[in-house]
Amino acid sequence: MNKIAKTAVLAALALCPVSGAAQGMDWKSVTRYDKASAKKQLTDRFVKYVTFDTQSSDQTSAVPSTPGQKKFAKELAKELKKNGSKNVKTDQYGIVTAEIPSNSDKNPPVIAFLAHMDTALEASGKNVKPQVHKNYQGGEIIINAEKNRVINPGNSSQLARAKGHDIITASGDTLLGADDKTGVAVIMTLVQYLYDHPEMKHGTVKIAFTPDEETGMGVEKFDVASFGADYAYTIDGMDLGQLTDETFNAKAFTAVFNGNRAVHPGIAMNSPFADNVLMASDFHTLLPRHRRPETTSDRRGFILVDSVQTQGDRTEVKGIIRAFSDEETQELVNEVTRAFNTVKSIHNKGKNFSLTFTDQYKNMKSVLPEQVVTLAEAAMRQEDVTPVRTAARGGTDGSQLSFMGLPTPDLFAGQYNIHSPLEYADADVMEASLRTALRLVSLWGTQTAPERQ
Ligand SMILES: [Zn+2]
Repeated sequence: MNKIAKTAVLAALALCPVSGAAQGMDWKSVTRYDKASAKKQLTDRFVKYVTFDTQSSDQTSAVPSTPGQKKFAKELAKELKKNGSKNVKTDQYGIVTAEIPSNSDKNPPVIAFLAHMDTALEASGKNVKPQVHKNYQGGEIIINAEKNRVINPGNSSQLARAKGHDIITASGDTLLGADDKTGVAVIMTLVQYLYDHPEMKHGTVKIAFTPDEETGMGVEKFDVASFGADYAYTIDGMDLGQLTDETFNAKAFTAVFNGNRAVHPGIAMNSPFADNVLMASDFHTLLPRHRRPETTSDRRGFILVDSVQTQGDRTEVKGIIRAFSDEETQELVNEVTRAFNTVKSIHNKGKNFSLTFTDQYKNMKSVLPEQVVTLAEAAMRQEDVTPVRTAARGGTDGSQLSFMGLPTPDLFAGQYNIHSPLEYADADVMEASLRTALRLVSLWGTQTAPERQ
């Protein structure tokens, strides 16, 4: 643990969110929070937002990658202004930012909430027809009878815990877009709530809606310095209580094998003939089978070759390494290096071998102040939600932002079966997400801002 993290833990221990200081005076009683009306607002917003086609595309380097995202950005900016947000801006990339000014006489940290506007590439996001299945009582929800698209506790385990909840699905032909329009709806409802309830004390809250999360391109364009938040949360997670504070360390590697194929294969014996395709194939075979995506889970990392390309004498193998800790990442780098060196020693007629590694992204845990996570856990507990710390077997926008200087773990949003036509949203879990975010706003309002450079 570094010094900064240690200070943050001490600060977290010293704070009073779990003590009785605010008892009877918490944000819910101050504002007379009404769960049913919050749920209705969330549902109304969500079913409206999913009708915007904001599917992103990996066929362009432009940001946003599709015009629908700009249209949605415009709509969100309009709604932010309507709900009293200040400094509402949409930049050339379609990134929408806004500010809810502090109404506190103290100097609390500036916190932010982010969600992404785009939807996944795996299925169409056009003409989404949301269906609200009110008061789920167990059993099957038929999304589309003709196509036999059905969700039930067997293929969607969360449904076993969703009795009495409102479940929102698409109609079987498209994605729903719960990833991440649940997050957008939660944040926009929070904005309206703070506007409608000036009696609730808070520091400055910043909002951002970003494009192209699914292609990993959107957040690259995010201007962390001018955004001006101390800490942030993406609201883009799945089940109740999920709090993602870890991502993979990600590296890519490229191995190049050069042979000599300028010899007729009929007379290759005892000639300078060298087979670069065989070298690449040996390399692939020598990589450990027990460290592959399909042979690893939970906290265990993997190596995957994702392309092998040959042009004449040259074969290039590209792959990725994913692991949570630096030690394990190095272990996998060593495995790749070992396989490469073995090929080099077996194929002594080959030439110009090379192996290079590049960093793609890093586990955000190493740069997240503990306070950002412990306060989120405290907020959940105070809302009767059991926090579940999760390590994402992938990257998140938040991991990029964390390394760009804005510590950003991810909070649950109530989205399930994402990236598929069986996708659904749970309005009751969205409501718990909204309460968690409001509680967080309230808890951060009692903290002191960090020193800024
Ligand atoms: Zn998402």
